[in-house]
Amino acid sequence: MSVLIVGSTALDSIKTPKAENPRLLGGSASHAAVAASFFSPVNLVGVVGDDFPKRYVQLYQRHHIHLEGLQVRPGKTFHWSGEYETNMNNRRTLLTELGVFETFTPELPAAYRTAPFVLLANIAPALQHHVLDQMRRPKFVVADTMDLWLNIALDDLLRLLRRLDGFVLNDSEARQLTNDDNLLSALKKLHQLGPKYVIIKLGSHGSILSGPKGFFLCPAYPLRTVVDPTGAGDSFVGGMMGFLAAAKGGVEKNIRQAMIHGSVVASFCCEGFGLQRTAKLNRAQIEKRVRELKAMTRV
Ligand code: AMP
Repeated sequence: MSVLIVGSTALDSIKTPKAENPRLLGGSASHAAVAASFFSPVNLVGVVGDDFPKRYVQLYQRHHIHLEGLQVRPGKTFHWSGEYETNMNNRRTLLTELGVFETFTPELPAAYRTAPFVLLANIAPALQHHVLDQMRRPKFVVADTMDLWLNIALDDLLRLLRRLDGFVLNDSEARQLTNDDNLLSALKKLHQLGPKYVIIKLGSHGSILSGPKGFFLCPAYPLRTVVDPTGAGDSFVGGMMGFLAAAKGGVEKNIRQAMIHGSVVASFCCEGFGLQRTAKLNRAQIEKRVRELKAMTRV
């Protein structure tokens, strides 16, 4: 089964203490789509400008990502720039140039509207609503978000939560949204806002799922060297959704395996700038790391 992914498609300029890389392929939807493509067919929805390099279109194509929903508009592609501190966890945004993203309205080609799995990757909640309005009875809808939307579009986000099956956010966003420092009570409050499945991402410490059958603590694959963590969260949720779309049986049966696979794809993402490492990945390398991660966490 296929997964529909909508979000930002961007050019990222990233600075770390060791190196600087301008205009890499980035954006929440790009990271999520490439991650999902290792498991299932992907329908991408996004917008780029006429400056978007051809080699990035070819990268999507090499991963068999359907691009019918990728709009190309006159103007500049969304450009985001961030800088990491020495610990590679703290990041500050240096620049956000919206370009064609400013007037973006996601329009779904007819063939996309019946996709059973929908990932609303990080994008304004009003646009996430607009995508759902066009879908025909999806089986499993998950959204990701960021602190910006909690600050400037909270009402839209709260309305969106009532339309979701799953919600993914990081720990600081969970604390901000629920006003609760304890993750377990924050999870309970998040369920009360709508979604049956809530996943709180804990960066290099993995993630925690709360669902109808209780909790699951998903480990992160330990890395000696992190080159660039940009897009790790998107890779995690993209990999998870791709795995779920391909798996036999229901979401409840597969979501823990899906999270482990997402976690592994995210670990590869951190080993290169932008999508450079993820784009060279294959399924066998993912499965090898999945086995290692399981062996490391088995009791
Ligand atoms: P993450 O590292 O998971 O927080 O995701 C980083 C990605 O988010 C980068 O590739 C950026 O292009 C993208 N991004 C940054 N700001 C925004 C924004 N306001 N809306 C959508 N995507 C964004």
